[in-house]
Amino acid sequence: MTDKKYTNPATIALHAGWRKDETTNSVTVPIHMTSSYQFDDTDHAANLFALSELGNIYSRIMNPTNAVFEERIAELEGGVAALGLASGQASSAYAIQNLCSHGDNFVASSHLYGGTYNQFKNPFSDMGIEVRFVDPSDPQNFLDATDDKTRAYYGEVLPNPSFQVFPLQEVADLGRPLGIPLIVDNTAAPLICRPFDHGAAIIIHSATKYIGGHGTSIGGVIVDGGNFDWEAHPDRQPKLNQPDPNYNGVIWTEAVKALGPIAYILKARTTLLRDMGAAMSPFNAFMFIQGMETLHLRMKEHSANGQKVAEHLSKHPMVERVAYPGTSSGLPKERADKYLSNGCGGLLGFEIKGGHEAGKKFINSLEMLYHVANIGDSRSLAIHPASTTHSQLNEEELASGGISSGYIRLSIGLEHIDDILADIDQALAKAE
Ligand code: PLP
Repeated sequence: MTDKKYTNPATIALHAGWRKDETTNSVTVPIHMTSSYQFDDTDHAANLFALSELGNIYSRIMNPTNAVFEERIAELEGGVAALGLASGQASSAYAIQNLCSHGDNFVASSHLYGGTYNQFKNPFSDMGIEVRFVDPSDPQNFLDATDDKTRAYYGEVLPNPSFQVFPLQEVADLGRPLGIPLIVDNTAAPLICRPFDHGAAIIIHSATKYIGGHGTSIGGVIVDGGNFDWEAHPDRQPKLNQPDPNYNGVIWTEAVKALGPIAYILKARTTLLRDMGAAMSPFNAFMFIQGMETLHLRMKEHSANGQKVAEHLSKHPMVERVAYPGTSSGLPKERADKYLSNGCGGLLGFEIKGGHEAGKKFINSLEMLYHVANIGDSRSLAIHPASTTHSQLNEEELASGGISSGYIRLSIGLEHIDDILADIDQALAKAE
């Protein structure tokens, strides 16, 4: 559980969950490269396994370096606890599997990262968990797709690559009275959006992106807002309210009574992570801790550069349209104003005149921007989604995700804005 000593992100990022190492006085969080932990005695071991005491057992399930990372991100998001995982993909998978069994369903926005879309559509269908994709621009679509077996709503705050901000409060308000939590992926908007303030119950991140911030490590995290009344909806949420044969018949909402509102995240750790094993390496947790220290500064700069690039592209003769919250209008702009603060982030898309061929020429002409399948790096990056990250999707699915053949996605980094614009301009000139 977070102790919530500080409220300012800049301070939380440096101080939450850690002061010093008690034996060495080390200020920097040590990397605990250990697989296991000595029990004090058999009673201590028994208490840990029975969850009557929380503590370290085995590094697949918990690790002291990971714990600092988890507490910091939980506090930054305003949640109660978090679970670090091996990747963003593991985070979206566990976030859903924690609530859905074979025969259940969940409703998800169709505006998703391609890897998440595919995970929900194919591997989940193999497991007997049905995803119902809906257009997120009208929140009512979530309710219309709901039935008795719907266990969760899922969306991306700033969906990659359409970049229209998800209607957080609108969808959360529809689900909450029915016992359906809103789970959101906040990978693209850490700190500039605080989804728990707008009704979300669970947040996931690919820490690989802005949290790490330097393109060094793969990781993910689930954050529990501690704000959802699972117990009030026993029929809707059987996995948290009925005896779990996977943990000695424990009822998760009852088991955590003395520990705080952490039923969801404790279950994810002690069953899914224990059983499926997508553990975050302590080394990567250390890297993410370093990244988080400057996250608030970097997000400001990514946002300032992103806004300038979007404005520049909006006026460029080679550009059909730009997708960026800060230059949008109408309902997308209203939602951006309502849900984002201190900028709109560093991600944007644009449609180049000349379609697929011009898109390829643009990418191949870039000299400074990297052509990679990543976002949220300190360096500026570019990609052509239709031929890479979203290549598993058919034309109809691409269209429902807001992607066309000439669409280019940019992740604007921390270089000087003049150099970023110069590289984009020379590549656009060659794409004509
Ligand atoms: N969510 C979003 C929004 C992403 O962009 C990505 C990866 O690009 C993921 C999740 C998956 O994260 P990872 O690559 O860390 O598994």
